[in-house]
Amino acid sequence: MAKDRLYYHDSKLCEFEADVISCEGPFEKEDGAGFWKVKLSPNAFYPESGGQPSDRGKVDDVDVIDVIEDEQGEVVVILGQEVAGKVSCLIDSARRFDLMQQHTGQHILSAAMERLFGYETIGFHLSEEYCTVDLDVDRLDESQADQAEDLANSIVFLDVPVRAEFVDDAKLASYELRKVPKVDSDIRIVSVEGFDNCPCGGTHVSRTGEIGLVKITRIDRAKGKVRIEVLCGGRALADYRRKNKQLASAATSLSIHPMELESQVGRILSQLKESKKSLQEASTRLMEYDSARIWDEAERVSGVKVIVYDAGQGGMDFAKQFALKLVSNPSTAAAIGASGPDTAYLVVARSQDLGLDASAVFKAAITSLEGKGGGNKAMAQGGGAKLGGLAAALEEAKMALLEQIG
Ligand SMILES: [Zn+2]
Repeated sequence: MAKDRLYYHDSKLCEFEADVISCEGPFEKEDGAGFWKVKLSPNAFYPESGGQPSDRGKVDDVDVIDVIEDEQGEVVVILGQEVAGKVSCLIDSARRFDLMQQHTGQHILSAAMERLFGYETIGFHLSEEYCTVDLDVDRLDESQADQAEDLANSIVFLDVPVRAEFVDDAKLASYELRKVPKVDSDIRIVSVEGFDNCPCGGTHVSRTGEIGLVKITRIDRAKGKVRIEVLCGGRALADYRRKNKQLASAATSLSIHPMELESQVGRILSQLKESKKSLQEASTRLMEYDSARIWDEAERVSGVKVIVYDAGQGGMDFAKQFALKLVSNPSTAAAIGASGPDTAYLVVARSQDLGLDASAVFKAAITSLEGKGGGNKAMAQGGGAKLGGLAAALEEAKMALLEQIG
């Protein structure tokens, strides 16, 4: 009978002796490894159920891979080796305690949400990394989250007893329950004294003080409902430590106090925006000046000013602007190169009054950059990863232009 599971009566029992009732196998996992399905009597391993992950540990020094509930509702321990007879069982107590902190913390927070705002919990999922609670409401603002956190933590700080018991119908009727039981026999009620009664088959701490802290770390809205992420106890401490380190490191790199970070980041971002704008304006002015000078100095070949130029550091837009500025003059053909961090760019363009084919020139030159791109007779552009090939590409472009001019 389900009630025989030892964790129902003592969630801190992590060492026990058992008889192997059955050991079926070997079965084959996806990776080809064999596994055995073991039933124990008595059993204290928690199988994955009710949103809580299964226990880990050892059976006679064999690692527990998983613990599941079969179709008959019996607990099956999955092992990588066969076992028989009397066995010594050990549950990973740190993992169990962590899951108990999260699960009991969730009960208290769910009860707080319902007491304060009438928001019902409609989903709960607990994993090794996170714990989420789904609320039957379409939005939860930060101040509500704070209030629910405060109420939940006040129950933690009061350190009241948490009890679990199987109840008969008469006893069940005496409880004011937060939610309706999903089963109609062997109903187990988990009570946080004076605060919450909830049907649940999970493992829980024995006093609320063991939870340490309840912290909501994220509020998401999806499909018209609210999902919150919650961290309790050791997980909340680890998260606090990590965030503190991140804040301290960010503050150190800015040479400010961590408490000033929020205001300083806002100031730095607006400064950065201003600087970008100024830099853009200065680059445009410089490019205009450079292009005018280069055009003036360029010699004519059969009446056409042929300009082949490496414009240095810059992206495709920069090279394009440069080329367009040059060919805004009449009878001008230009091949402009520029280099980004991992790409070299080439733009070939000619004035509207010329019949040259910029696309053909570009195609002849871009192979030197091992690149790609394209365009039309008036302008073609592209880039390639061979940064060292830019000089050769420009030389190719020059030759192709001169050939077309004849
Ligand atoms: Zn529960």
